[in-house]
Amino acid sequence: MRMTTIAFVGLGHMGAPMAANLAGAGHRVLGFDLVAELRDAARDRGVEIADSAEQATREADIVITMLPAGKHVLAVYGSAAAPGLLSEAKPGTLFLDCSTISVEESRQAADAVREAGHRALDAPVSGGVVGAEQATLAFMVGGEQGDFSEALPLLEVMGKRIVHCGSSGLGQAAKVCNNMILGISQIAVAEAFVLGEQLGLSHEALYDVAANASGQCWALTTNCPVPGPVPTSPANRDYQPGFSGALMAKDLGLARHAIETTGMQAALGLHAERIYAAYAEGDGATTDFSGIINVIREGAEEPGA
Ligand code: NAD
Repeated sequence: MRMTTIAFVGLGHMGAPMAANLAGAGHRVLGFDLVAELRDAARDRGVEIADSAEQATREADIVITMLPAGKHVLAVYGSAAAPGLLSEAKPGTLFLDCSTISVEESRQAADAVREAGHRALDAPVSGGVVGAEQATLAFMVGGEQGDFSEALPLLEVMGKRIVHCGSSGLGQAAKVCNNMILGISQIAVAEAFVLGEQLGLSHEALYDVAANASGQCWALTTNCPVPGPVPTSPANRDYQPGFSGALMAKDLGLARHAIETTGMQAALGLHAERIYAAYAEGDGATTDFSGIINVIREGAEEPGA
């Protein structure tokens, strides 16, 4: 594989292992994070640390960002008023944003990249920290076909399932739609288990029926919200994430934004967003989103009461 010089901005939970995997594959990775301890930790994993994101970008063929939210991506890219990475990059540099941000901000970012004479891809991921560590992430990519083909060998170093979803912003669109399915279905599965409890139905019996019938879904057969039926699900380790309620609340907030900007009706998506937003303010800040079953159970009356 051709050796690429990569600027990697944002070396947090996801960015650090992704950058380390690229370095491990023989690429030159120039990393930067605002947090000094994270820079040191990434250095220990084979990432060369730059003095700033700008310095890394000047030398790079491709700039990868893995940042908390859209405002961070737009800020590091820069604007006429506050120049950033776009004015430091070599002409035609490929900007690959892997952060989860709104479709609208993603398109805004891609427009700014193109106006500055560069190329843009949005490539949000699913698979979490485990997927980032094990290089099994799923990438949902938006942008031009030629740019996608160029980025593919790098995405294959960091992930397993890589789908080109269409033009700029459509990677984020796929992510937001997928996570809306996930958020709603995790609540549906949790409500079904609590209803079963109320009716005297055992977890095992409900699982054995639904996992082999039309109720089958990832929220049931991988992320089962009760301990027992799926030994690897977070319910078996006191709901340690996994994927926290706070991250689900963030993603459903992006879904709500998309629902509102398109003007469609999505009653369940909007309702799920409210449920996870409340959960994220309490236990859900640090526990897996499947722990929402405990909120539902608390709201239920004692069986037989
Ligand atoms: P994180 O907060 O651990 O990492 C983000 C990093 O960006 C931080 O270390 C922060 O210091 C750094 N940063 C912020 N502004 C910066 C700047 N201007 N220059 C350099 N560094 C800067 O977050 P994370 O869990 O790694 O998630 C990153 C993105 O991936 C988010 O958009 C998140 O929604 C998405 N995501 C996360 C997961 C997950 O399980 N953690 C799963 C899928 C997608």
